[in-house]
Amino acid sequence: DTTDGDDFRCGYVALSGRPNVGKSTLLNSLIGVRLSIVSHRPQTTRHRILGISTKPEGQILYVDTPGMHRGAKRAMNRSINRAARAAMSEVDVAVQVIEAGRWTDEDAAVYAALAEQEVPRLLVINKVDLQKDKTVMLPFAADLMAKHTFDEVYYVSALKSKGLPGLEKGILKRLPKQAAIYGEDEITDRSERFIAAEMVREQLMLRLDQELPYATTVEIEQFSDRPDGIAEVHAVIWVERDGQKAIVIGDGGAQLKAIGTSARKNMESMFERKVFLKLWVKVREGWADDENLLRRFGYE
Ligand code: GDP
Ligand code: MG
Repeated sequence: DTTDGDDFRCGYVALSGRPNVGKSTLLNSLIGVRLSIVSHRPQTTRHRILGISTKPEGQILYVDTPGMHRGAKRAMNRSINRAARAAMSEVDVAVQVIEAGRWTDEDAAVYAALAEQEVPRLLVINKVDLQKDKTVMLPFAADLMAKHTFDEVYYVSALKSKGLPGLEKGILKRLPKQAAIYGEDEITDRSERFIAAEMVREQLMLRLDQELPYATTVEIEQFSDRPDGIAEVHAVIWVERDGQKAIVIGDGGAQLKAIGTSARKNMESMFERKVFLKLWVKVREGWADDENLLRRFGYE
């Protein structure tokens, strides 16, 4: 067994950063699977997602964090903030992800939260593919490093999988020496049921406009493996009002069909078997304010 030698390392790494800097994209690129859902919208990630990467030298346990939500009025947002804080504590290495060429007040707030922890801090400057003028990159990083304490800085493109081996090396050497916590083939601690719900929710984030995606959540009512080898998945898309239901379904059901087709394809490639996906849209006023419903819908 290669995962318990004397020099083997294993530990947790938090991927922190303000919304939309590319934390989930980075997690997916690092583990080589589209595990954490991604969209152009801020606050796509609502749950703590663990992504496992096992290499000959060690096992890196990446924790993708939801960005902190400002509106703590809604129970859902409070739950998301709890998940974000929990993900940041009890890690061995903290990675702060930012966008190339941009350092905002929100980045500074994330930095301040991380600076309270006594663990190595790495700065990851992501989206370098968008920075056409490469000569501005070094001064930008030099200025940040002069004003903040980071153990190291890395330039990456999560989208194009650039610069990742250097980052992985930098993380590995800072993890404690210990045997692997998860099996070599495992990529997450989340169930297929959870991932299925996330894949439907990803389509809602991608396809619905404005505030509507934030008024939705997805519940898997059934996930079963049929004798013919097909996974049968029944999912309910919860919305807050009748008008929202009509939009999610779309003209002649076209929108719901598109959501279902894309989500099913993503499930099939992730679960490595055929999926039969059935979708319903149901109205439940105030679900995002109801602690009991939130627990039922999988919010911690
Ligand atoms: P998160 O909110 O920090 O998890 O960010 P996401 O991973 O959801 O990404 C937000 C948006 O940035 C998505 O549209 C991604 O496709 C995009 N993105 C992430 N990484 C990169 C990158 O390296 N280059 C470019 N051009 N876009 C990226
Ligand atoms: Mg995310």
